[in-house]
Amino acid sequence: MLPRKFIYIYLCGTVAAFVWIFINFATWCTDNGDEIDLEKKKVQIFQQKYESQKNDIEVLRRQLDELKVELRRAETRLSQRDNDLSSLPKIYLITPTHTRPEQKADLTRLSYTLRHVPNIHWIVIEDSPSKTVLVKKFLAGCKLSYTHLNVATPENYKLKESDPNWLKPRGVLQRNAGIDWIQKQPQTKGVVYFADDDNTYDLQVFEEMRFTVKVSVWPVGLVGYLWYESPVIKNGKVSGWYTYWKPNRKFAMDMAGFAVNLRLFKENPSAVFHMKAGRGNLESDLLTQLGVTMDDLEPKASGCTKVLVWHTRTEKSSLKNEDKMLKLYGYNSDKTIEV
Ligand code: UDP
Ligand code: MN
Repeated sequence: MLPRKFIYIYLCGTVAAFVWIFINFATWCTDNGDEIDLEKKKVQIFQQKYESQKNDIEVLRRQLDELKVELRRAETRLSQRDNDLSSLPKIYLITPTHTRPEQKADLTRLSYTLRHVPNIHWIVIEDSPSKTVLVKKFLAGCKLSYTHLNVATPENYKLKESDPNWLKPRGVLQRNAGIDWIQKQPQTKGVVYFADDDNTYDLQVFEEMRFTVKVSVWPVGLVGYLWYESPVIKNGKVSGWYTYWKPNRKFAMDMAGFAVNLRLFKENPSAVFHMKAGRGNLESDLLTQLGVTMDDLEPKASGCTKVLVWHTRTEKSSLKNEDKMLKLYGYNSDKTIEV
């Protein structure tokens, strides 16, 4: 038998343990309650977040729908604009070009201008017995609608290094090849403009010529050893010519100063530039063949008060160090690099 003392101790211990459990039980319960509250709060926060994000998504979805509608409207406007642009009268640009160190630079500059002109067809005619690789490659990458032609100017009509530039006309057979190409096209609508490869063109000049009825005219800057040459306007009509060189020519204009309705070429199929037209008379001679009168001329560029095209001339680049390079260093520029 266990001594009574042990039984008391055992009973006291048990009672004490119960009391201890009883006291702590409340505490445990309180702790658990806090955790549950915490969880409940978290759930509440998540629910609030869920609701607000659901609203955000709803707002974004509505915005997306609105943007889709806007996009469709813009696409419609764009295709409408493309249709409008392609219904504009087409400009046929005739550009003679010849091999020289600055050729690719000049063609590059001109093509970048033309990229900004809607509904244009570029007819590039090389003064060469065959189409050169340089121009072929250049045109293939120019991102414009184009036709590539070639015809060589006979040697006796070519300018010599020492000749003044006015001695012989340049680009005559090439422009005629362009006219001939146009004559063979079925189109009867459009505007023809003779654009040399070294001039500078304001984009506005193309819009001025766009609706040419017969022949539209405007001033040309930096030509004829003057700031500009220009038709003289009286009461809205061309009455004469502001030019130093022979102002009494019938149409005393530079090539860059007029555009012709394509119809006139179709109606006058024999009209071409004549090598023998005489100094400064190429333009006048052509317009005469086209049956144009002074009264037909349509002054553009705000009544011929604005210069929108310049008869700039690219400076000839000297390559005199090429030979010196070779002599001094034994090598010079790599000919496989196209310039
Ligand atoms: N041109 C040509 N063959 C030549 C010289 C010139 O086809 O032997 C072209 C030239 O590239 C330009 C146009 O004819 O597009 C007029 O020539 P240039 O600019 O030399 O004449 P200018 O500025 O003196 O009027
Ligand atoms: Mn020129």
